[in-house]
Amino acid sequence: MIKIGRNDPCPCGSGKKYKKCCYNDAEKNSKIERAQKKAETKEDLIKFINEKIAVYVFKVELISMFVRQKDFEWDKNGIWRIIEIKGDQTLSDFHMAIQNAFNWDNDHMYSFFLSNKKWDRMTEYSGNPIEAEGDDLEIRDMGLRVSKKIKYLFDYGDELEHEIQLKRIMEEPDLTILYPRIIKENGTAPLQYGDYDE
Ligand SMILES: [Zn+2]
Repeated sequence: MIKIGRNDPCPCGSGKKYKKCCYNDAEKNSKIERAQKKAETKEDLIKFINEKIAVYVFKVELISMFVRQKDFEWDKNGIWRIIEIKGDQTLSDFHMAIQNAFNWDNDHMYSFFLSNKKWDRMTEYSGNPIEAEGDDLEIRDMGLRVSKKIKYLFDYGDELEHEIQLKRIMEEPDLTILYPRIIKENGTAPLQYGDYDE
């Protein structure tokens, strides 16, 4: 954490005083405040302000669930989606992207386990359809490295279990694209509630 006085030069480099520059611009100021929290030195501060927002490319694979759908055949190459998400999007945005990718109904609790171990409370971020612990945890602040695995569990009763793996990190987003998005998929997911119990 580094302190910036209101009378100090604005860290954006404009040459104006901070209080007469980015301090008054909500968007620019939130970027500065974020950098300020992360930075230990002046150099870091500038680095974090100029930081590009990377895109994280994850493979999300459904590895088990209770299938109620009659005659459902599990794709032999797996049921998975490749999802791109921006570093400044949050874990709960990621949850919604997964819900959409597999056509789940977002009607139950869920958890991410960062250690990839189911029910590991120490690394758990959970949520329900209304609110989530990961609401303000940005993907870029999770310290993720390529090949990192994470467990995503949806519905503690039926336990729809997904394994997530970070495949690559791209330095900057394509500005013409709305993230998160699915770039590749394999296998049709079973219907969450099957087709014969309604
Ligand atoms: Zn400024």
